[in-house]
Amino acid sequence: MKAKTSLTQPSRYPKRMDYSEETINAILDEGLFCHVSFTNDGQPFLLPTGYARIGKILYLHGSVGSHFFMQMAKGIPVCVAVTLLDALVLARSVFNHSVNYRSVIGFGKTRLVENEEEKWLAAKSFTEHMIPGRWDDARQPTASEMKKTMFIAVELEEMSAKLRTHGVGDDPEDLDLDVWAGLLPLPVKAQPLQVAEDLKAGVPVPEYLQNYWRGK
Ligand SMILES: Cc1cc2nc3c(=O)[nH]c(=O)nc-3n(C[C@H](O)[C@H](O)[C@H](O)COP(=O)(O)OP(=O)(O)OC[C@H]3O[C@@H](n4cnc5c(N)ncnc54)[C@H](O)[C@@H]3O)c2cc1C
Repeated sequence: MKAKTSLTQPSRYPKRMDYSEETINAILDEGLFCHVSFTNDGQPFLLPTGYARIGKILYLHGSVGSHFFMQMAKGIPVCVAVTLLDALVLARSVFNHSVNYRSVIGFGKTRLVENEEEKWLAAKSFTEHMIPGRWDDARQPTASEMKKTMFIAVELEEMSAKLRTHGVGDDPEDLDLDVWAGLLPLPVKAQPLQVAEDLKAGVPVPEYLQNYWRGK
């Protein structure tokens, strides 16, 4: 599959590109947060934020008082990136050090979500994207909490994925050096839970937290 336009055509390592929906969706569904950028009067802005994907739409949410969200509510072109860092690649030479990663860059336009049903869908999807099972377990938002929250749909029109998944790429003349080479994997892995100090006695750890895992 090829890039749709030159917007998503890289100048470096075209072999690492993947434009398939399957790869792009898998990366978007594994990621926990994205970076959204836009320009206003020639000034670039960038916001790291959570998201949820439904089809080719990324749902974002933020405070109705947020400058960034108020800009996006106008319906503006944005660029979104989701990055999964898999490993540091340690070569014998500094020059050939690299990282293994899977990333997606998407271009699209923002839309303020005004329909109530879509707002609730976005809220639920957002929660479930972070922690599947949490929406039905936690107290759901009140009407007043929903009023304080702005939901933005990013309608993605063009996307690309790029992946580096291989090992060390040293030059042949460096292979005999006494320098350790290999991968340092850095998976996103849940650590032991830290219980809230004021948790009511007897509340069990939900099953969906017992083996929380993001990844392949
Ligand atoms: C964690 C991480 C660390 C990186 N570190 C470096 C680094 O130190 N130095 C470095 O040169 N590169 C690094 N990269 C790769 C970097 O993202 C670019 O792919 C690379 O710089 C080549 O860009 P280009 O000039 O070909 O892109 P351009 O030609 O400017 O890109 C054109 C289009 O190609 C697509 N594209 C390019 N890169 C990506 C990508 N990563 N993911 C999805 N689509 C993409 C986009 O649609 C983009 O609009 C890193 C990537 C990741 C995820």
